[in-house]
Amino acid sequence: MKVYSFSSGGINIEDGFAPDGECSNLAFLPEQVVIPLSTEAGSRSIPVVSAGQHIEEGMLLARGQGSGSANIYSPIPGSLRKMIKWEPAPGFLSDAFVIRLEGSFKRLGKQENRYNWAEFNRFEIQSLISEYGITEMDGLGRPLIDIFSAYNAARSSFTLVVRCIFDDPWLAADYCLCKEKVDAVAEGSLVTAKAVGAEAILFAVSASGRKIGEALFNSVKQREAQARLTVSLILTGSRYPQRSDYVMENALRLYEKKEGAGKGGFLILGPATVAAVHDAVVLRTPALERYVAVGGAAVKHPMVIRSRIGARLRDIFAECGGFCVKPENIAVTGLGSPLLGRSAGLDEPILKTSSGVFAIPVKRSEAIFNKFRRLKKIHDGLPSDVCISCGECRNVCPARLDPEDLYKGIKDGKRGDDARYLRCIGCGCCEAACPSKLPLCTVIVRSRLKGDACAV
Ligand code: SF4
Ligand code: SF4
Repeated sequence: MKVYSFSSGGINIEDGFAPDGECSNLAFLPEQVVIPLSTEAGSRSIPVVSAGQHIEEGMLLARGQGSGSANIYSPIPGSLRKMIKWEPAPGFLSDAFVIRLEGSFKRLGKQENRYNWAEFNRFEIQSLISEYGITEMDGLGRPLIDIFSAYNAARSSFTLVVRCIFDDPWLAADYCLCKEKVDAVAEGSLVTAKAVGAEAILFAVSASGRKIGEALFNSVKQREAQARLTVSLILTGSRYPQRSDYVMENALRLYEKKEGAGKGGFLILGPATVAAVHDAVVLRTPALERYVAVGGAAVKHPMVIRSRIGARLRDIFAECGGFCVKPENIAVTGLGSPLLGRSAGLDEPILKTSSGVFAIPVKRSEAIFNKFRRLKKIHDGLPSDVCISCGECRNVCPARLDPEDLYKGIKDGKRGDDARYLRCIGCGCCEAACPSKLPLCTVIVRSRLKGDACAV
């Protein structure tokens, strides 16, 4: 079977402190959860409960109001203690509920009723997806119904791509989910395709995870009567950043050219998102928990755990035996690699998009990047932050850019409106590979965000 990959650049990431993802561990129920009222897309939902009120598991806490917001449900039973302000990113302040665990669970451990979604038309399925507040379970966490509307407005036909890419070890949560919930991912893909009106489903699976791809494909085939659409499997590269949308779309375009498939475009969603659609439509359950890869050199026992949404990071690390050394850096990532994570505090909650959390005893850049720097010896006799024109950054750039040149352009104040800066996807490969430890990606991305000529 042909492997569709990006043609140049990329790195092979190995990290002995990431969990292996072969199986998950169910986390203890958290004594307290923190539930933000805004999606990561930024819009606030309107509370329908108030402080002091008793809350049941799976109860509606806040109702979405238009584009960017979604209905929010309680992952645990308990008492709503208070509303707090939470700042997940500088300048982005969100209200959040604090719920303390009390009372009994209505859903946990109970037999699940199944509903026959094949009887519903696409608008009835969309209505359930909206009612249960289903959002992307990675990346930006956008409400799914907004994504559907945008796709349906822009295209008359397209293919749903279920992205099962494991190009770095921090995608262990997706890997584990696909292994353990293969039928939910497969059936969720069919339900999602029907809801959005996709003409075909394509499982895009890393060549290294081929068995998972075949299991998904076979599971869908068993439901062929429900499907009534074309289902295919393609193998992709297993090198970072294969998962990024830009690189993924390049591989899909190659596939399209070769196989004549995907005419009209591709809607790419992760396996956790289609599994959440399955739960909403087939089981009538909102997303109350998610698979999280927990690890890093400061964590005693890295593992994939199934955690309730809203559990605090301190409880998540405690599940993994706590810390073996004091962590210098704690971060959360919804995109796989810690290269793309954001720093976080121990009291921050697991969000729907938190696929990985890690704690390391040194600065994150040191811990991650030193693994790839193969040319340190060349520096003998030179200061370590001087470009030695080795060309490594060019070799690994998947966007075929010259990161050294872009970096120097910013430093010298000569960036101007050079369009090459817009092609950078912020993958971090150049910075990871640079033996001089120059902050190439950091400076390029910061400069692009600011839009100024010099960000150094
Ligand atoms: S220049 Fe941008 S796209 Fe190229 S390797 Fe660096 S971060 Fe990635
Ligand atoms: S990898 Fe670093 S040292 Fe090598 S050419 Fe690029 S910027 Fe210079």
